[in-house]
Amino acid sequence: MENIKIYKGDIVFTKQTDYFECFKDGYIVVNNNKVYGTYSSLPEEFENLEIIDYSNNLIIPGFVDLHTHAPQFENRGLGLDKELIPWLETYTFIEESKFKDIDYARNVYSSFVEKLKENGTTRAVLFSSIHKEGTKILFDIVHSSGISAFIGKVNMDRNCPDYIKEDTYESLNDTIEIINEYANKYPLVKPIITPRFIPTCSDKMLISLGRIANEHNLKIQSHLSENQGEIDWVSELHPQIKGYANVYNSFGLLKPKNTIMAHCVYSDENEMNILKENGVFVAHCPASNTNLSSGIAPIKDMLNNNLNIGLGSDISAGHEISMTKVMVLAAQLSKIKWIYNNRNSSFLSTSEVFYLATKGGGQFFGKVGSFEKDYEFDALVIDDSNLSKLDLSLEERIQKFIYIGNHTNIKKIYVCGNEIK
Ligand SMILES: [Zn+2]
Repeated sequence: MENIKIYKGDIVFTKQTDYFECFKDGYIVVNNNKVYGTYSSLPEEFENLEIIDYSNNLIIPGFVDLHTHAPQFENRGLGLDKELIPWLETYTFIEESKFKDIDYARNVYSSFVEKLKENGTTRAVLFSSIHKEGTKILFDIVHSSGISAFIGKVNMDRNCPDYIKEDTYESLNDTIEIINEYANKYPLVKPIITPRFIPTCSDKMLISLGRIANEHNLKIQSHLSENQGEIDWVSELHPQIKGYANVYNSFGLLKPKNTIMAHCVYSDENEMNILKENGVFVAHCPASNTNLSSGIAPIKDMLNNNLNIGLGSDISAGHEISMTKVMVLAAQLSKIKWIYNNRNSSFLSTSEVFYLATKGGGQFFGKVGSFEKDYEFDALVIDDSNLSKLDLSLEERIQKFIYIGNHTNIKKIYVCGNEIK
């Protein structure tokens, strides 16, 4: 062991969904950016080493935002009394088209990334816009911030306004140019294949993107079963294929353990099975699903069914960039679903939503989102002293932070062992 760091504090994380692991005045030993061990008392072998002392502060894993759109940042809060398709056509496509202007892109992306980081999001999976140069700027800005991300240039070549519709050939070429330039440029910021969704991508586009993902060993992200109108549209466009997820699958876009599908609000048992068989990550976006009146995704059922699930802010259909706010919304929506389902089964607990926002989504990045051995050390140091006058357990303190804390409680941020705040 060569590069050891020892952190002391009130450590909380979720190894599994159903309870919080808590170490009051505990220690995390980090070796070369990875967790070596988490302890209640410091093992003798480390006793003479310097300790970075965050006593009385909570130390928790950094948050993972599994689905969000960087170029929609300025759109937050606008048009949220519309449903998906009218919202896209009235506001979102127009806003995204502005990102051909690289000065505008730099300006908005800088604010967006700053807000992500400020709120303790240490890992994010981002949609950019269709624009090649703007997307490159987003890579550079995210890298400079110190956070880790997958970034996808969006591909779309049909069923959208001309001002944002791509030529198929150019779109694929731009995608490959970005891959060649950025696949190995930064250690923590990588490209991801990003067809917007089935309605806006031709068959030729989808087949080619599946092939590019394979050839370049890349991950894939898109949207699935968000809204009933969208689902009907997909079945009209692909009448020969039964089920929305099967359309992606038929184009090679459900890459085992390497694909994120956002929403999955209307995924039935069949579709859940396809997602499970392919190890697809479901990005649950509760703010977005309520804002656009889409529906309530069956996340508790999916969790019971052992699907891979994380949480997404889905800016700007979602209005909250803070993952603690997203956690609260996920828990609340799950309770509403439970109430209207005759109180059958159960709803998401606080430890479950915390798990989804840390280890659940973190698994898309590898060993991320926990303080178990060999996990990359992503951490937030939280001063929660202003949140309660009560004498609380660690589990109660993390509940308080999730529900009533905010970014001002976050004192330090680590990503893969690097202190970035
Ligand atoms: Zn989205």
